Amino acid sequence: MQYTSTRNNKIRVSAAQAIAQGISEEGGLFVPCELPVFDLNKINSMIEMDYINRAKTVLKEFLTDFSEAELDYCVNGAYAKEKFSSEKIAPTVNVNKNENILELWHGPTCAFKDMALQLLPYLMTVSAKKTADGKTIVILVATSGDTGKAALEGFKNVENTKILVFYPVDGVSPMQKLQMTTQDGDNVAVCAIRGNFDDAQSAVKSIFTNDDIKAELAKKNMMFSSANSINWGRLVPQIVYYFSAYCDLVEQGRIECGDEINVVVPTGNFGNILAAYYAKRMGLPIKKLVCASNSNNVLTDFINSGEYDKNRSFFTTTSPSMDILISSNLERLLYHVSGENAELVNELMASLSMDGKYKVSAELRDSIKALFSGGFADENGVFETIKQQFNDFGYLCDTHTAVAVKVYSDYVKSTGDDIPTVIDSTASPYKFSKSVLSAVNSDFSDINDEFETVEKLNEVTGADVPEPLKALKNKEVRFSDVCSKENMSEMVFSLLNI
Ligand SMILES: *Cc1c(COP(=O)(O)O)cnc(C)c1O
Repeated sequence: MQYTSTRNNKIRVSAAQAIAQGISEEGGLFVPCELPVFDLNKINSMIEMDYINRAKTVLKEFLTDFSEAELDYCVNGAYAKEKFSSEKIAPTVNVNKNENILELWHGPTCAFKDMALQLLPYLMTVSAKKTADGKTIVILVATSGDTGKAALEGFKNVENTKILVFYPVDGVSPMQKLQMTTQDGDNVAVCAIRGNFDDAQSAVKSIFTNDDIKAELAKKNMMFSSANSINWGRLVPQIVYYFSAYCDLVEQGRIECGDEINVVVPTGNFGNILAAYYAKRMGLPIKKLVCASNSNNVLTDFINSGEYDKNRSFFTTTSPSMDILISSNLERLLYHVSGENAELVNELMASLSMDGKYKVSAELRDSIKALFSGGFADENGVFETIKQQFNDFGYLCDTHTAVAVKVYSDYVKSTGDDIPTVIDSTASPYKFSKSVLSAVNSDFSDINDEFETVEKLNEVTGADVPEPLKALKNKEVRFSDVCSKENMSEMVFSLLNI
């Protein structure tokens, strides 16, 4: 399997190159030149497999330059049962009728990012051995909260890697912040920046592509790579759980193999839902991809109008991991739906960086609309949904998942399309305890201590508190630096001691 770039489709690289490098030289994103096809027989054969074997079945089609032994090493290490709080790794839970929740937060940092970021360090180190001859890989991460912690946890103490994480100083939940600032490991550093996630992401992207900085690193035998979902190695593990959820539904007798399902994804950077799109293109019977946004509803507007316009107010919401106005992975979708038109992608991305907006043709808009439905939930909708899901079905969901549940219920109301559906649940409710607790019972909205809130939420709902979050209570804060976005590159040098 060869990969090319969304901005130059003459480029050909192997999976290992795409993963080690992170982003293509001219700033484009790596995409597979063609997609493997899974027919119903193949999907059927995956039903009786556990998650690890389902993962191997999907991944080996994409990582054709990895040997079987290498793939086994990566997948067995990443999804070792003791790292996850569910035997099934990513269980599919029926909440009500055709509403099924795919719980993607049973990993060590309690957010869906673990599904990819437990695997990425393995893929990256194997890839680097093949392509980067002994260089130390420096992972730079811009995070809206969950990626940072999941990447730190995945890469901590991994040989020949260093990881630096930047997060918006006021843009993450207290639990997310504590998870990052207490991170252990000898090769890790964390720094807050004054600005929002988009500022952090743009700065990281420009550091990546800055030739002077790259040259400095090269002198020290280091190279940058990315653990953000611009890295193909982040996306490919996410394709797996759509196949796995489908197999679970067949196994549970909720559908027959071959039946169509809908998929609903709480979306920020468009990585997770893009993985579902790839699964659909590979033959998984998905009818509609429902893209759920919070009040930062730039994607809802794009899907409905064909115009992407980030020139709008930025809202800091209770679902911070979706507080994003530049959804990087949309570039990959544009490339695919435009018939692999790299020239068009270049134009659109140039327009996005110059004017903060672009508009696609009516034809392109319609082909996107045929695949996707876009909707958003405001803060009130999120709180009402958390309360309702808990009161009606005894199911406790976090703020991000609530965005998806709300958008899904609006979708069913307006279309009548209520076929069996998988809704991604992307975080444990305990990562956002204060919001979740006050949604369930407003009497407790004045508790401010994070761990008191956790205990109260547990008392009120009976939902288990994940062990890794409990353990934070006694951990020491190691990282308290704050810098401006202009000073990020200096910070990188200082954190790397160069
Ligand atoms: C990252 C994240 C999202 C958004 O996922 P994308 O792949 O960026 O669209 C949603 N919910 C949670 C909890 C997340 O951490």
